[in-house]
Amino acid sequence: MKVVGLGGDEPVEGTADVVVAIDGPAGSGKSTVARRVAEEAGLRYLDTGATYRALTLALLRRGIPVEDAEAVADAAKAVDLTLELPPGRAGAARVLLDGVEPGLALRTPEVNATVSAVAAVPAVRELLVGLQRSLVGVGGIVVEGRDIGTVVWPDADVKVFLTASEHERARRRSDDTEGGGETAETLARRDALDSGRAASPTRAAADALVIDSTTRTIDQVVDHLLQLIEAARATRPR
Ligand code: C5P
Repeated sequence: MKVVGLGGDEPVEGTADVVVAIDGPAGSGKSTVARRVAEEAGLRYLDTGATYRALTLALLRRGIPVEDAEAVADAAKAVDLTLELPPGRAGAARVLLDGVEPGLALRTPEVNATVSAVAAVPAVRELLVGLQRSLVGVGGIVVEGRDIGTVVWPDADVKVFLTASEHERARRRSDDTEGGGETAETLARRDALDSGRAASPTRAAADALVIDSTTRTIDQVVDHLLQLIEAARATRPR
């Protein structure tokens, strides 16, 4: 598992700009918000959920029984997963599996149904958190996930935990074709497993700002985050 610059050989440009951690359950609006905030603030973007999905896809393709934590931990070590940084200082990091971007294969019902079991295995988290940290260390990035503010990057300059009512989250997720039209049942099951697991459960960090997006528009939440970024940038050299 490794982090590379664009095309695998460009030097990675470090920056002293802010790290923004956005955590929350599935369907809280965090992906849309995180992408928009990164774009508007001129920051890089990392979807850590895609790393868990890619690893799960690799295990499914190899026929590993995902409910067998030992087999998962063993097989995970051999998976060829790469995070490729975008050129310059902005844009989304690409997740490559065996050198190829898996695209929508990350969002099938099979992956939705099994990713939480894989993500609950401590050895898997250790591998992926290490990979994520080497990318976040480059700076100037919006990172979304479940454990960014608590485990991956507790020193993030801006820490937000996004929530929304269960009803609203299921509605958003089934509307979202990129989400594979996940059903309310699998979404609720995934969230329960993610927040109930022993290893880095979905949690708001003690110093995170909790934003309930149920009755707010995406624009309102994005604006709020942009203000927080502006304030954080004002207090640190760039
Ligand atoms: O964000 P997304 O819904 O795509 O994440 C897919 C799954 O990856 C989650 O349900 C969770 O099991 C796992 N995940 C995690 N920690 C993260 C991001 C995602 O355990 N930081």
